Amino acid sequence: MRTLLQNGTVINFDSRFEADVLVENGRIESVQKGMPVPDGAELIDASGMYVMPGFIDTHTHFDLDTGSAVTADNFDTGSKAAVLGGTTTVLDFATQDRNGTLKAALEMWHKKARGASCNYGFHMAIARWDEATAAEMDDMTAAGVTSYKMYMVYNGLYVDDGQIYAALKEAKKRGALIGAHCENWHVLLRMCDEVKARGILGPEGHPLSRPAAVEAEAVARFLRIAELAQTPAYVVHLSTAEGFFEAERARARGQEVYLETCPQYLLLTDERYKDFDGAKFVMSPPLRQETDREALWRGLSAGAIQTVGTDHCSFTMAQKAMGEGDFTKIPNGAPGVQHRPQLMYTYGVLTGKLSLEQMVKSLSKNAALLFGMPDRGEIRPGMAADIVVWDPNAQGRITDTDHAHHCDNSPYAGFAVRGRARDVLLNGRHVVENGVLKGSGAGKYIARERYQKTV
Ligand SMILES: [Zn+2]
Repeated sequence: MRTLLQNGTVINFDSRFEADVLVENGRIESVQKGMPVPDGAELIDASGMYVMPGFIDTHTHFDLDTGSAVTADNFDTGSKAAVLGGTTTVLDFATQDRNGTLKAALEMWHKKARGASCNYGFHMAIARWDEATAAEMDDMTAAGVTSYKMYMVYNGLYVDDGQIYAALKEAKKRGALIGAHCENWHVLLRMCDEVKARGILGPEGHPLSRPAAVEAEAVARFLRIAELAQTPAYVVHLSTAEGFFEAERARARGQEVYLETCPQYLLLTDERYKDFDGAKFVMSPPLRQETDREALWRGLSAGAIQTVGTDHCSFTMAQKAMGEGDFTKIPNGAPGVQHRPQLMYTYGVLTGKLSLEQMVKSLSKNAALLFGMPDRGEIRPGMAADIVVWDPNAQGRITDTDHAHHCDNSPYAGFAVRGRARDVLLNGRHVVENGVLKGSGAGKYIARERYQKTV
């Protein structure tokens, strides 16, 4: 099977140039100007379009049971939304049951993800750290799981500082990276009680119960633990200027620190909790203030924030209503996997905060490097043919209902967007044609390698 993308502008993390791109047997075969049309090749006219490496979402939660609610999106709906938006790979979180093994979690997530319409890999969330779990890390490496997550919060997931220290050291031995959800659990629980005791029970109580310092303290602590363990560290969904400052301090000490932020922290603020539909925006960490938003954009522009993931974790408004009268019972999370590329293009590239190359770097290349997918994230001969033909002229507006998520809301409803993934090639297959999903179920599991430093 051959496909020739003609007359597009190729955008890589470090260059842009006009070229044709020939795809054969799932790989990029050749990238050059004015290529002759090979026999039997499907032609895609990319004139006036950007030809970009498929985007990688570093952070999704499909088919997640939080104990009180199951996410509205499973892998079927979530992966369709992803690929329609130009995201060809998601890294979801397989989560260990505290009484179970990593192996059992991995098997369960493989089962959930079967038949997905985009490629996928799994970070492994460690819910219990002990010798048995440590020993399982070798099996995980062999199974293509080279990144882990540890939660400093949540009953059933919380791990203590010593466990994080020990796990970081074991991960380093295997070339694996650990990301942490950084918030101070014990303090925020007290603060939730305090906020409720003041009679604040609606969504506006959510950000009051987990202010910036709750994150910044945990970022600082996690990074000091990584300093002691002498390992690299990854902070997931960074939301505050204060947390960013702590990461920069760790770097100034010579530490290797990687940061992920999300579109919601770049585009929305805690003003949203004052609206009647504030529950829609209840996620952890919560939306922050204008100064945080600005600091995160500055960090991303400067290359000090390496990746942008969505933390896609969708719940319907009916599910959100479980927390009416008690904000601590609102299921945490919001959808975003479909719209991340459009949002970053519209509000990053078109405002001059990011170049097209930087967009590719933070949405694709850096994720490929950090999470051990060396044959993705670039339009170059030999790479896997995950390709987005991006139409820079498309215009639209995000609404609560007009998307492929299996969910009746979007935190970005009302946002005007420019650009869209007109066509998408997934492992060389032309799965999205003119914005329509033609080939579903074509996603593959990506067994990942050791992490590499970002660019
Ligand atoms: Zn998450």
